[in-house]
Amino acid sequence: PPTADPLGPANRLVLAPGLLGGTIASSSGRLSVGGKSPLTGGIKESNVGGLPGAALARLGVTALVVEGQAASGQWFTLEVTPAGVGLLDATHLVGQTIYETVARLRSGRSRRTAVLAIGPAGEMRLSAAAIGVTDLDGVPARHAARGGLGAVMGAKGLKAIVVDDSGSDPVPLADAGLFRQTTRRFAQALREHPSTGKSLPVYGTSVLVNVINELGGLPTRNFRSGVFEKAEHISGEALHDLIVARGGQTTHPCMPGCVIRCSNVFPDENGKEQTRGFEYESIVLLGANCGIGDLDVIARMNHLCDEYGLDTIETGDTLAVAMEAGLADFGDGERAIALIEEIGAGTPLGRVLGHGAAVTGRVFGVSHVPVVKGQGLSAYDPRALKGTGVTYATSPMGADHTAGNALPGTVLPGVGRLDTTQREHQVDLSRYLQKLAVIFDSVGLCWFTRGPILADNSLLLDMLKGRLGREFSMDDLWTMGRETLRRELAFNRAAGFGPQDDRLPDFFLTEPLPPRGLTFDIGDDELRETLAGLD
Ligand code: SF4
Repeated sequence: PPTADPLGPANRLVLAPGLLGGTIASSSGRLSVGGKSPLTGGIKESNVGGLPGAALARLGVTALVVEGQAASGQWFTLEVTPAGVGLLDATHLVGQTIYETVARLRSGRSRRTAVLAIGPAGEMRLSAAAIGVTDLDGVPARHAARGGLGAVMGAKGLKAIVVDDSGSDPVPLADAGLFRQTTRRFAQALREHPSTGKSLPVYGTSVLVNVINELGGLPTRNFRSGVFEKAEHISGEALHDLIVARGGQTTHPCMPGCVIRCSNVFPDENGKEQTRGFEYESIVLLGANCGIGDLDVIARMNHLCDEYGLDTIETGDTLAVAMEAGLADFGDGERAIALIEEIGAGTPLGRVLGHGAAVTGRVFGVSHVPVVKGQGLSAYDPRALKGTGVTYATSPMGADHTAGNALPGTVLPGVGRLDTTQREHQVDLSRYLQKLAVIFDSVGLCWFTRGPILADNSLLLDMLKGRLGREFSMDDLWTMGRETLRRELAFNRAAGFGPQDDRLPDFFLTEPLPPRGLTFDIGDDELRETLAGLD
């Protein structure tokens, strides 16, 4: 409920696979994790790949809803199997990192057992706490990271959720012939698309480092610059070459059947796995935004966040604010690692940092804090990527690129390709992308599949028809996108949000971003137009 305490018994933690979840369609096992966010105080959907989305769908679960709260000091694992659901004592797992927790819970179980778990950050109910999720190999390197939903899980006394669909039936198909034929077409289209067939499988999401740096929008030293002088050291190309030289995996699927395989396995200098799922957002916010240009240091930071169960985006924003406050020098990787360790250890300083950039800024008197609705910005400076800036300001999710990211090259139907540094049509573009993101989240497809689907809508419509036996039009899906956003806005309004919350921090409007001197010049009245009429 909108007025619920996010960490109280009335808040709900919801895990919902998409309409295509559990099928053989590429990249269709995304899972929406939702609830009222302790970070923003509003509605939150945090989207994650890995194994559990498909496993829940195969078990016939439309949504798993956790309500209530364990008594103080009690901890449980929730098990979901074909036999039903049950709570097991998890006291022995308290204090363990996510990797330790998952190793113990998966021991002796079927290879396809999916686990969602929290680490010390979630147990401490820190607002930057993430939920770790197992990937194809059973490694908890995927995350429902944004919005502090790990703290919601911790507040319920849930250390982990185990989903074991062994023995379950395949997901039923209304028209198996149509479905299989369309999934083959879909996979082929993904292989032929320049983004999903070439750049993402080779360089992963970090292919964006050079692109956004050249645009002048790479968050650097607490969003003080849009260009990082060491960008080439942390670029997708550098990451690729280092992984190859050390014998890691430059391409890896987070879930079975993903044709794109945008993930990776990053080894240390001895060839031992150091971290995986080493993504653009984490690399830029833990790296450039903290002035750190060494992939090995950033990989250690990334892995620590994954062990403790911390959102790497919020943590990168927070560390940069802490650096601005003088708690570390920009570029001091060892000190940054020590600060993350303070969060994991739950020291008083660590608990402040673990509540995110907004709290850290308040405690240490820093006013240059890149947050909207209390949530740290993703790795795109809104002065150079204005459509994404509109999404940060207006999305019911707070500053979250996954709610509608307007990357260079994005086409607005009826208008064409927009220059992200110019203000024209960016409100329209954000509105379009916010609805589109809801559609992809609702059907359970990875956002990266949108290129081929936008080029040929029949791929999505025929998969839905083959799966559900129902004829959908794109208008139906746009209506679903609109209606979902309308409900999210209504939730936030009832939770106390108003138009004054739909704006970026002032410094984005007043401080020109070096080197191009850009400001965010889309006014409050225009921002209010973005989702006007939906609620
Ligand atoms: S494209 Fe990447 S994030 Fe999306 S489902 Fe595939 S591996 Fe996972």
